Amino acid sequence: MATVTLDALRKEFDSGQIVAVDDVSLDVDDGEFVTVVGPSGCGKSTTLRMIAGLEQPTSGRIRIGDRDVTDVHARKRDVAMVFQNYALYPHKTVEQNMAFGLRMSTDLSKEERRERVRETAEMMGIEGLLDQQPGELSGGQKQRVALGRAIVREPDVFLFDEPLSNLDAKLRTTMRTEIQHLQNELDITAIYVTHDQEEAMTMGDRIVILNDGELQQTGAPTDVYRNPANEFVGGFVGSPSMNFLNVGVEHAGSSALLSGADGRFEYELTDDRLVGALADRDAVTVGIRPEDVFVLDDGDRRANAVETTVDVVEPVGSDNYLHLDIAIEFVARVDSDVEPEVGDRVRVAFDPSDLHLFDANSGESLL
Ligand code: ATP
Repeated sequence: MATVTLDALRKEFDSGQIVAVDDVSLDVDDGEFVTVVGPSGCGKSTTLRMIAGLEQPTSGRIRIGDRDVTDVHARKRDVAMVFQNYALYPHKTVEQNMAFGLRMSTDLSKEERRERVRETAEMMGIEGLLDQQPGELSGGQKQRVALGRAIVREPDVFLFDEPLSNLDAKLRTTMRTEIQHLQNELDITAIYVTHDQEEAMTMGDRIVILNDGELQQTGAPTDVYRNPANEFVGGFVGSPSMNFLNVGVEHAGSSALLSGADGRFEYELTDDRLVGALADRDAVTVGIRPEDVFVLDDGDRRANAVETTVDVVEPVGSDNYLHLDIAIEFVARVDSDVEPEVGDRVRVAFDPSDLHLFDANSGESLL
């Protein structure tokens, strides 16, 4: 059973001046693929390095299966780590690189080791490279070798530290799919660190979002996307980013009027759930995803719409991103056949069920 349990894990550096990881607790199931994502410096790598045994926690415990490994040496943890810079031995051949970890961690005979390396190399499509040295390989080939070297050891847990960051965009997409296939096929437990929210969303069974060393939210990617726990998560997950508006609230019976201080946004909320969530607040932060904004046809005169000006039209192929004069940064993502001109007045609307409401001070979701 290769579950991984982090219990109030904390890591300080510089005698406590820096808190890299702040009381992070997490249960990873056997066979689960968990992605850990957050901005630079949020503590992703430090968390992973503590699980690998490369960094000692200041406090908290780490369990793999039913074994407490907090004080167990890295080599005895039965985890394999794949790094961004591949970490291959430059003067060993691919075969020797792959066999090296096996020699260190198992008692297989030389012939058995050879056989296992060959089988894994075939699975990874690198059998033709076994006699070459890392210097002769492309970035993608090196990362395949690094993956092969991890897989051949059949560890309990795989740890990935931004393994695709050095590859070009196209290769990154291919390798993402390959890693997902391998993970499904081998049914391995994996913790995968990335700063790329799209990578985290597409690859993970579950996504963990960190900020400033603290765990912000964990859940299935679509759940996190639909129900962000706070403003940070709402803004971090999804591209282009969620739009935020700080607005005042005027309650009027069963509805509430939201209005921005500069008069560019005014919207009447009538949806019971949303009005209820506002309770007796007089200010709130509204979150609206760019894809949830739609531009009304000229003939559509519905009352609950926002009239605004188009500042920029940014075509990105299948969609157009319209920058609207609703806030300093407010983007609508619309089909490419919706093509207003810069300076046009347009009316935009939202489905109330797509609106997010956050506490104006703490940023916590009110829904
Ligand atoms: P990135 O995506 O940039 O790699 P990260 O989310 O992986 O960032 P960490 O590398 O875990 O972040 O770093 C978390 C914090 O701890 C940062 O403020 C970093 O400067 C600090 N830190 C990490 N390692 C050390 C160290 N050995 N000594 C001092 N501070 C450290």
